[in-house]
Amino acid sequence: MNYQQILDTIATEYLSMQSTGKVASYIPELSKIDPQKFGMHLYCINSGHYSFGDNNERFSIQSISKVFALTRAMLLMNDTELFARVDVEPSGDPFNSLVQLEYENGIPRNPFINAGALVISDILISQLDNPKEDFLSFIHSLTGTTSININPKVFASEKAYSHRNAALLNLMKAFGNITNDIETVLDFYIFQCSIEMSCKELSTAFMIYANGGKRLSDEHQIVPPQKVKRINAIMQTCGFYDEAGEFSFRVGLPGKSGVGGGIVAIHPNQYTVTVWSPPLNPKGNSELGMYALERLTTLTGFSIF
Ligand code: GLU
Repeated sequence: MNYQQILDTIATEYLSMQSTGKVASYIPELSKIDPQKFGMHLYCINSGHYSFGDNNERFSIQSISKVFALTRAMLLMNDTELFARVDVEPSGDPFNSLVQLEYENGIPRNPFINAGALVISDILISQLDNPKEDFLSFIHSLTGTTSININPKVFASEKAYSHRNAALLNLMKAFGNITNDIETVLDFYIFQCSIEMSCKELSTAFMIYANGGKRLSDEHQIVPPQKVKRINAIMQTCGFYDEAGEFSFRVGLPGKSGVGGGIVAIHPNQYTVTVWSPPLNPKGNSELGMYALERLTTLTGFSIF
């Protein structure tokens, strides 16, 4: 498979595409990003790295961090206990919706919407002495890159506008599904969202999900295969807010997006791929990112289906 030629085709097509998307502005610092940024990086298990554009520039990973947080929690706690506090069903609602939580007694639909990730943050705080340090070193161990860190401006900006996430936490605490104090959980959740990584670093970190839980650089087993199967299933059904069906339909790979404009997708036993384009469609997914991944599975002729 000539991946570089396929990526070059996508890069050329991008030049003639007009995005109708909008860069996220509800976190003011994110609105400052150049909407023209566009990068893609594919990491193939058998043949290595392929890329174009701004694939080495770091951006705010935002909700993509929810996959790392879930993985860490699944390594620390057994699945029965963990999934009693957060479900594994697609939400069909926006990522920060409060309505469903009220009906469903404070149990979030899945770990990839904000409410679910806030529960996962609460779990990690209870399980770890230093959750922030642990979280960063987990990412460092997956990528081999110790300079990955948060963007303090994005962190401060998100903190100043975190009323809705605070509301989700308050509601869940009223239902008894948050054990630590609200400020501590909010602070750790925002810390995770404000981490910056490049397309290349994300493709490298996500390789464990394509490679049966093993880091590709040394084949070290980081996550047991049964847990990887479950994480990939949740990415497939819940990775794209209330557009997970559309992403499955158009692209056909498990993945996760973030409001920073990044999307990571995996093809088990084949490759990981990350694309970054900041303008978002109305559902909060990178508009051109989705297009690029749809073209990838069309041009290669294979997806997981
Ligand atoms: N930090 C963002 C929030 O909580 C994450 C949203 C996202 O990327 O989906 O609103």
